[in-house]
Parts: sequence; C-alpha cells; structure tokens
Amino acid sequence: MVQNILSVEEVSVTFDGFTAIDSLNFSVELGELRFIIGPNGAGKTTLLDLITGKTKPDHGRIVFDGGIDLTKRQEHDLVRLGIGRKFQTPSVFASLTVYENMELSIGFRSKLGQLFKSVNNEDSDRIAKALAMVRLVHRSDISAGVLSHGEKQWLEIGMLLVQDPKLLLLDEPVAGMTHRERMETGELLNDIGNERAVVVVEHDMEFVRQFARKITVLHEGRVISEGSVETVGSDQRVVKAYLGRSRALQSNTGN
Ligand code: ADP
Ligand code: MG
Repeated sequence: MVQNILSVEEVSVTFDGFTAIDSLNFSVELGELRFIIGPNGAGKTTLLDLITGKTKPDHGRIVFDGGIDLTKRQEHDLVRLGIGRKFQTPSVFASLTVYENMELSIGFRSKLGQLFKSVNNEDSDRIAKALAMVRLVHRSDISAGVLSHGEKQWLEIGMLLVQDPKLLLLDEPVAGMTHRERMETGELLNDIGNERAVVVVEHDMEFVRQFARKITVLHEGRVISEGSVETVGSDQRVVKAYLGRSRALQSNTGN
C-alpha cells in the first residue's frame, strides 16, 4: 500500500519580496528514492530548509508521517521525529574511529544524560546494520580522519541511519567522489530507499540518469515536471528551464 511519508502542500516562501518557493506541492512515499533537480536558484535547498524547519513558510503545510505539521516544529525536533539531514560537507569526528562515530550518533537519539552510555545489544545491532549498509564494516576500527572523502560521506549517512530515520534528506551526496564511489553510493541509496524515504538533491546528471527512478524538477520555486528520467528528460518545460545553462539531461556535464 502506498503511504505518503511527506506532503508539502501549497507552500510558499518569500525572501524580501522575492518568491523562492511558489505554492509548491510535493510528496514522497515510504520506500522510495527521489531525486530533486533544477537549475541554480530553483529553490532546492530552500525546500530542504522548509522541510527541516530551518526556514518557515509564509503559506502552506508540510505534513510528515501521517499528521505531524513540520512547519510547527523546530530543527532540533527532527531526529526524534525520524528525519535525518545530511549537508554537503562531512562532519565526522576525525580522531574517533568509525565505530565510535556511530556510537556517538546513536547517543543523540537517546536522552541527553545517556549520551555516553555503553552500547546495548539493540544499539550494536543497529550500528552493525548501518555499517553494512554504508559499506564500512571493514573500516570500523580505523580513525574517521583517514577515510577517503567518499567514505566520510558514507560514514555520515551511516550516522544518520543509526538514528533510524523514516525520511533521509541528502544534499549533493556524490560531490567530490570518484567514479567508483559514486557508483557505490547510487547502489547504497537505492538500498536505503527500499526501507525508508530518501530525498536527494543532486547536480551530477550522469549520476541522476543512472540511479534515479523518479525525479522531481524544480524551477523558479515550482515543480515543473516529475517522473522517470525519460519522462522529465523529454519534457519541454524541463528542456526550456535548463536551456542556456547546461542542457543537463542531454549532456554529461553537471550543474
Ligand atoms: P537552489 O538550491 O535550487 O540553487 P536556493 O533554494 O538556494 O536554490 O535558492 C532559491 C532562491 O532563493 C535563490 O534565488 C536564492 O537567491 C534565494 N534565497 C535563498 N535563501 C535566501 C535567503 N536566506 N535570503 C534571500 N534570498 C534567498
Ligand atoms: Mg542549493
């Protein structure tokens, strides 16, 4: 059965009179990996900021998990509600091991006083699953500081996974990765998307073409197209929005 985990309903936001998000409607189901693309300034980051409560809309509702209005929540409520957001720059603790980073992250889910509690069975189970998911089991005991750029990104995704989010929001997760790391990332995002809802803002069109099942195209704060790579790639509104920028879906260049 189809279950919407996130519904953005008629949301608008203006910055000093400039409409960055314009009566936007957008929804995501549990068990899907969704890519959001669009030219620079389309409103992609603002949309993530709205979902995470960093920016408040002027109008509209953002409903999560069957009834929670996210526009009434604060950013620090997110982890507890079941939403994880990963920013572009990795923020792992370099001097701690991969495993210790995961322990630290799982602690944030518990009450603050238990931050450094010893890891119980349920926690170690969850850490093991997350490490396997992000392909870092063999790197558990090394310092996070010596991981490659791509591995650091995966660790950060793993650190979100141990918090057991229903919705995961990722901003350009493959930026700076090698080709091989991008391929691995595409596969792991699909794996994660089987169990949760994953929303990925992405500029790397080669990556999007290869791994996206469903794409939402933003332009001037609105959804102008939605569907498979083929559907949005042949949509004249999309071609027009990208014209003179990069012809993103036809060529191999990003942005
Ligand atoms: P994208 O991530 O798709 O490139 P953004 O969401 O960052 O686009 O920005 C959408 C539009 O809103 C842009 O024109 C940007 O300049 C504007 N904008 C975003 N955040 C702010 C802000 N805090 N103040 C003023 N304008 C903003
Ligand atoms: Mg952006």
